[in-house]
Amino acid sequence: MNKNIDTKDIRCEFLIIGSGAGGSVASKYLTDLGKDVLLVEEGNRYSINEFKNSISKSFLYAWRNGGITPVLSKSNYGFGEGKCLGGGTYINGGLIWRTPEIILQKWNKIYQTNIFEDSNLKKYFDEIENILAINKQFINEYENNESLKLIEIGKKNNIKVVRVPDSINSSNDENKLTLGAAGNAKNSIIQKYIYPSEKKGLKILTNCRAEKIFSDKNKVKKVMVKINDKKTYIYADNVILACGATQTPMLLKKSFGNNFLKSELEVHLNLRIGVKFKEKMQDREGLMFTRQIQEYLESGVLIMPTSFNKNNFFSSLAKLDNNQINMIEKEIDKYSSFIIQLSSLNKVQLNNFFGNTILNYNLHNEDINKLKNYFKIFCGFLFDTGAEEIYLPFKKKFYVNKNDNLGEIIENCLTKENIEMVSVHGMSSARMGIKNSNKSKFNLNGRSFDFENLYCVDSSILPTSTIESPQATIMAVAKHVLENNFN
Ligand SMILES: Cc1cc2nc3c(=O)[nH]c(=O)nc-3n(C[C@H](O)[C@H](O)[C@H](O)COP(=O)(O)OP(=O)(O)OC[C@H]3O[C@@H](n4cnc5c(N)ncnc54)[C@H](O)[C@@H]3O)c2cc1C
Repeated sequence: MNKNIDTKDIRCEFLIIGSGAGGSVASKYLTDLGKDVLLVEEGNRYSINEFKNSISKSFLYAWRNGGITPVLSKSNYGFGEGKCLGGGTYINGGLIWRTPEIILQKWNKIYQTNIFEDSNLKKYFDEIENILAINKQFINEYENNESLKLIEIGKKNNIKVVRVPDSINSSNDENKLTLGAAGNAKNSIIQKYIYPSEKKGLKILTNCRAEKIFSDKNKVKKVMVKINDKKTYIYADNVILACGATQTPMLLKKSFGNNFLKSELEVHLNLRIGVKFKEKMQDREGLMFTRQIQEYLESGVLIMPTSFNKNNFFSSLAKLDNNQINMIEKEIDKYSSFIIQLSSLNKVQLNNFFGNTILNYNLHNEDINKLKNYFKIFCGFLFDTGAEEIYLPFKKKFYVNKNDNLGEIIENCLTKENIEMVSVHGMSSARMGIKNSNKSKFNLNGRSFDFENLYCVDSSILPTSTIESPQATIMAVAKHVLENNFN
């Protein structure tokens, strides 16, 4: 796989560490400029269709820690991220949202700048949407039934339900939606950014983990990496960090000490709701959802279906006994699932404990109250549009039917200790800033305050969380960083 690269005493003009949303934009931009670029990726290289039929294999091989990494918390909570060529973009759902206007305004206000004006970022989003052919493949008849339910809810209750911008071709037979979107069904980052750059000269080393950055005065001198567990050094004129929201801070801590960066990860919390409707919901396999409730975006809340997969659905209902599972299985076509996604007020603490990443989190009381409110509203809408049973993301008392007292159950059972949730969007853990501090290590152009040839282009430099899915924001900010430092 790494056969064309001599792995002893490696030298290059640009070293990019990590091949996800940020690293792939950097790879394309610098290779297009004709630079000598080496991209190193800790995970493996997988073909586009490698895991289309198996969630467990995808978890095992393409995700960090073999799936969801547990977070130390009173709640049942885990964090998921990719570890393979393409990073999170390889396993994700291909939703490509522009940054919400309220977030851009917030960033401009925090930094007293106009960098994040819509007009400045527009050209980057236009380019990303063009390369990934966003919504070009949208065909109405391929809206899934859960999305049609959201349209119905929107009309009945006069709330904002919008079309989701994605790079998915729902009519593609290969789209089994094991997790996110598999194979050719998605115009993925590896297809559209990494492979074309490789053809133009980008060098790629997979199974290559950056372990430590060494500096001399105010310059990075070399990076120690392990390739298939064998240690070697890379000497690069410029080093671009793109290891993602948990690993960029970890690499900085391992290189320059735990006190160098006080790292806190901003996250979106996903709480999954299983629903049984009167009618059949799963009549066509592999359709990506197409609608999202945006009415509550200003409160940091979005509501959307998930792409339905039987095995995945059962994995969230492991708490049921065999009888209950058999009952559900008999009528599985009537089931579907939705997500309430909340931008968390509290942050996940990221600690380096002898080289291991330890995550800690505590759900804020204000977020609990917000969740109670939106669970009551949305579950009410679901019952109103034909839901018969709802499975809440709770450890105990998770089942509600239309005759139960929904309000009382949510009020009593939605507690820190009883809730179950995951995050797959982490960001802002080494955020950009105006001056050097142990929270901000990069300036507003993504350049390190400490080392003149070190840059960051991944989700960790975002100023805050994005409310919406972050991939396009990460890519646009990466492009801003690159254009302002190298042209
Ligand atoms: C299941 C899932 C679904 C998602 N769905 C969506 C969606 O539909 N839309 C959306 O906008 N976002 C989605 N996201 C989030 C999005 O994919 C991520 O926010 C984005 O990929 C983060 O980009 P990044 O560049 O920060 O890092 P990543 O994409 O996480 O990439 C970092 C890469 O660096 C590698 N790396 C880490 N440390 C090292 C090291 N020391 N040496 C070498 N390599 C290293 C990692 O292995 C990884 O491959 C989803 C995420 C997941 C997990």
